[in-house]
Amino acid sequence: MPVLLDEKRGRPIDIRRVLNASQLIPHALSLNYDDLFKIQRVRNVFPLSPVSYSKLASYLECPWCTVAQKPKRRAKEPTHFLPIQQGRLFGGAQPDPRLVGTLLHTLVNLLHAPDSPLTEKMRADLLADSDAFVRFLRCDALETLQKAGKIKLAMFFNELSQQPTLFRTTMITPMLHYQRELISTHSTVFAAAERFQLKLLSTKNTFADYPDRGGHIALVGEFDQIRMRNTSDRSQPLSIPAIIEFKKGLGGKKVVAPQPSLFEDATEQAEESELVLPSDAHAMQLMIYWLAFQTRWDLTETLKEARGMWKEIPMQIQQELELILYNLNDGCQYQLRPTSHKDAMMALIECIFYLDWALKSGYAAPSPEHECQRSPLTEVPPASIQVQIGYAALSAQECHQLAREAFGRFKETIRWERYSVK
Ligand SMILES: [Zn+2]
Repeated sequence: MPVLLDEKRGRPIDIRRVLNASQLIPHALSLNYDDLFKIQRVRNVFPLSPVSYSKLASYLECPWCTVAQKPKRRAKEPTHFLPIQQGRLFGGAQPDPRLVGTLLHTLVNLLHAPDSPLTEKMRADLLADSDAFVRFLRCDALETLQKAGKIKLAMFFNELSQQPTLFRTTMITPMLHYQRELISTHSTVFAAAERFQLKLLSTKNTFADYPDRGGHIALVGEFDQIRMRNTSDRSQPLSIPAIIEFKKGLGGKKVVAPQPSLFEDATEQAEESELVLPSDAHAMQLMIYWLAFQTRWDLTETLKEARGMWKEIPMQIQQELELILYNLNDGCQYQLRPTSHKDAMMALIECIFYLDWALKSGYAAPSPEHECQRSPLTEVPPASIQVQIGYAALSAQECHQLAREAFGRFKETIRWERYSVK
């Protein structure tokens, strides 16, 4: 069952011992995954010009839009809570689903994050008792949001709570669903909104046919949640770690209001049965989290046994680690199960290396299929920007193209399964 094996001694590494933020793997430790790549936890990632998943994903889609994009100035958090008059925020329409999603996610974080205004005991009590939980949502959640400094969300929450039906469907029902699922699966949340930073190094095997490229990429990001899920299967006594990413929607098409039809019932049924799966970008995000999670294994014992002499610890590509996309709104969960973990990892790593090289070269040509179609930033012909990779150089344009091809190979491995609680 434990899939992490100490290869030299053949002893299993206890996968249950996954670390909290307070106990980190020594930062010089390299983990070696079948010589495909190396991964390191780094203490200060900023000299390495780190990138985030969202930057890479958007650069994959369109270099011009990513490079030209000015950093969004976040709207300032209001200093005082103001109850807003009924109907003003929504203007009679449905509330912004993104804002509802952010609010649900924030409430979930308040139930787990150590910096929550709720004490540990209060959080445990709320998660264990549905009646108390509903009472909390109706009476105390507003104040808790304000105490947590989420003034804008508190105002939005207050506005929702003025409309009983809307409040029930958008807040109470999804939150109860969340709580019940946690109870019924005996899951333990041990990290919420936890930041990570890592350095990924290529090895001679990272890129097929290009043995000497070398190079590294620094990644920063944040896990929404890491859980231990108890398997109900008694023959499997271990808990399985799961990375949970919360999504409001699944990034699918916007629902267009249907034309009034004589066959309204039939239309509705067809819409309901249509299964919207998460996107390829969600798969990329979760696989990057898979990488980040590898810096969380507790290998203290293993290191102790080797008297701290090992520089690399061989680990396996295939691990007991669930990658889950969780739609808080409807409670649907989707598990990413690549057809081949190794192929998926190879393709993804190639993709992010090529993206990072192209990005850092300053290459910013618009993607032909992107709707922006604005003139590029510079007059420099895109083919003339060169990227130095190992001893070789290739054009940045070609580099970006190689990233897209690698992403194409990654896409072929993607397989989603509806995660049903057993
Ligand atoms: Zn664009």
